[in-house]
Amino acid sequence: MNIHEYQSKAVLKAYGVAVPEGLPAFTVDEAVENAKKIGTPVVVVKAQIHAGGRGKAGGVKLAKNLDEVKNYASELLGKTLVTHQTGPEGKKVGRLLIEAGSNIKKEYYLSFVIDRQTARVVMMGSEEGGMEIEKVAAEMPEKIFKEYIDPVVGLAPFQATRMAYNINIPQPAIRKATKLMTCLYNAFVGKDCSLAEINPLVVTAEDDVIALDAKLNFDDSALFRHPDIEELRDESEEDPKERRAAEAGLNYVNLGGDVACMVNGAGLAMATVDIIKHYGGEPANFLDVGGDSSPEKIAEAFQIMLDGGQAKGIFVNIFGGINRCDAVAAGIVEAAKIISDDGKSLPVPVVVRLEGTNVEQGRKILQDSPIANVIMAPTMEGGAEEIVKRVKAAK
Ligand code: ADP
Ligand code: MG
Repeated sequence: MNIHEYQSKAVLKAYGVAVPEGLPAFTVDEAVENAKKIGTPVVVVKAQIHAGGRGKAGGVKLAKNLDEVKNYASELLGKTLVTHQTGPEGKKVGRLLIEAGSNIKKEYYLSFVIDRQTARVVMMGSEEGGMEIEKVAAEMPEKIFKEYIDPVVGLAPFQATRMAYNINIPQPAIRKATKLMTCLYNAFVGKDCSLAEINPLVVTAEDDVIALDAKLNFDDSALFRHPDIEELRDESEEDPKERRAAEAGLNYVNLGGDVACMVNGAGLAMATVDIIKHYGGEPANFLDVGGDSSPEKIAEAFQIMLDGGQAKGIFVNIFGGINRCDAVAAGIVEAAKIISDDGKSLPVPVVVRLEGTNVEQGRKILQDSPIANVIMAPTMEGGAEEIVKRVKAAK
């Protein structure tokens, strides 16, 4: 799960991470009021969306007086901001962060992520702050430093110090920098984060060390331990289909294409997305229905895939292990009943490949059903090729 910058900063502040003084605002009046309360000569008006790259897209404005705060706030609230992370459709700004302007001497990069190879938390730092870290990694990988953290020991003081020297934090700011690293690590572990990224971390003219931006991602599987974080969810930032799927216990990720697929098991779902691409199609989604595929769940999955008209065809690729092919087939019949009045048709062609437990019963249910546009495929390759062909023909 993702939260907004101002929420991340509040979480981090509670762990002792130095952040600028700031207050969220949902209206122009509130923005001006909060700027008054902050009272610094320069306040920064920052669009709050679940995406980075706001600075370059005009979503971060330095205001030198209250009139400017008012102007920037009116300009940004309700605006659709397109950054390199939002995709071309952009994200609508519904909230602002009004923040004290910092006297930046230099910008750095600092983050904690989980490294799958070593199964450890890794701290990454760079003196190339403010720019995209992917770009730094591609163009000057020698400018990125890493410290792998022993889970028993935690972030050792020598590692924090080594990082501070590696990224050339000026001498008078070293201790503040290592303190910030330690507090950020504690927040990362304490809140079960999957990412904590400060870009930029800044050293100010006064040699203070401050997290000027903050991005926290949380491990969804651990959210039940953090009701305070769950409360920060902003549903307007989330894909409604992904949300509906999560509520139904389905693993769904929107991929933007027009060939929907319904699969059981994450590995097979990935392979299915790959094979659709291989035959020249664009997958609409990743969908893992999991092990307990009751007809109700399958019907819900169908409705989610068809909702909004994005899908021009559906590829059902099921290898019945724990779940049974007959239950999946019954679910497809059920879905047709819910979706069409007579239960005889689905709005798009459906290619079905079934294999495994109760496959014969499953195939029979579909063959005996009155649904017109269900095509049985004997193999995964054949099924993928068939659905891509049909979706192309439909266009
Ligand atoms: P994004 O990563 O989405 O572009 P940031 O929060 O990193 O947004 O802001 C972009 C840039 O704006 C920063 O690199 C910094 O130069 C400037 N900036 C952001 N917040 C402040 C602040 N409180 N005071 C001064 N400058 C700021
Ligand atoms: Mg940033």
